[in-house]
Amino acid sequence: MAEDRDFNSASFYRFLTEKKLMASRCKKCHALYLPPHPICTRCHASEMEWVEMKGSGKLAAFTSIAVGPSSTIEEGYDRNNPYVVGIVKLDEGPKISGRIHGLDAKKPAGIKVGIPLEAEFPEQTEGRSPYVTFKTT
Ligand SMILES: [Zn+2]
Repeated sequence: MAEDRDFNSASFYRFLTEKKLMASRCKKCHALYLPPHPICTRCHASEMEWVEMKGSGKLAAFTSIAVGPSSTIEEGYDRNNPYVVGIVKLDEGPKISGRIHGLDAKKPAGIKVGIPLEAEFPEQTEGRSPYVTFKTT
């Protein structure tokens, strides 16, 4: 059961493999933590509960990457085929970073902060931590 999982990154990753974006919420002051924290840094309570994020949000900041790590080079990204990584402010409040699909990475000047995005859960690659990406809606 979800409620039994520890409030840490390992649980967060496990939820991602189940295509769920989960945050921890303080039962006392309702602060949300993503990635999840076991203790509330706002009120210091240690009573947390899991909450599933809808996965929708808005682009808060971004960068276009032309020279990425080897995993992205293997996927075909390079100087001529850059990709966008951004910070997404979820509708529920927390921010999360991830690759953003559906934007023209070659023309970053045309990308507007605030555009609506939706979470995607890519198939897992062996030897890589599960991750979340976003796409334009
Ligand atoms: Zn709290």
